[in-house]
Amino acid sequence: KIKSEVALQDMDDLAKTSFPLCMRHLFFKLREEHHLKHGGRQQLGLFLKGVGLKLEDALAFWRSEFGQKMGVERFDKEYAYNIRHNYGKEGKRTDYTPFSCNKIILSTPGVGDHHGCPYRHFSEENLRAALGSMHLGVRIVDEILEKVRNRHYQVACSLTFEATHGSQTIGINHPNQYFEQSRKILQP
Ligand code: SF4
Repeated sequence: KIKSEVALQDMDDLAKTSFPLCMRHLFFKLREEHHLKHGGRQQLGLFLKGVGLKLEDALAFWRSEFGQKMGVERFDKEYAYNIRHNYGKEGKRTDYTPFSCNKIILSTPGVGDHHGCPYRHFSEENLRAALGSMHLGVRIVDEILEKVRNRHYQVACSLTFEATHGSQTIGINHPNQYFEQSRKILQP
């Protein structure tokens, strides 16, 4: 399958319209705090690679965020390697694949971490606020929270997809699948 490339300058719009909540949360936390801990860098970094962000654009993106906090020199010294590594350009040159929902749901984010699945790892209050910021109505949010209480996290994510896209989904099992389905609907 040929992957289309995405442009760096489109990323904020794509994050708002086509990222699943887990990636949207990481993306805007990074924009806000100019930093993400390791688990977040991996989860978001590999997702962005899967979305079609080229290595040079990925480096520019992470450098522009981390650089604001720690300076670009320190970024280049301590963090650039890991990004090239994820693209298979360092170390064993493995081409790492983006994480599936299962892997993300089973991860165990600690204090100060922003990775994980919001349906699984957010408090009900924070999840309600996050869904509200996606302009979802109270009724659908209640429906989603009901799925979460029954531990049907991917079903909750699928409901969010359907409510924000006005379109059915066969069921979300991978953040990049969410993204691709979204692009098909919004930009057929
Ligand atoms: Fe992300 Fe999957 Fe959770 Fe949706 S169900 S927020 S795609 S990990």
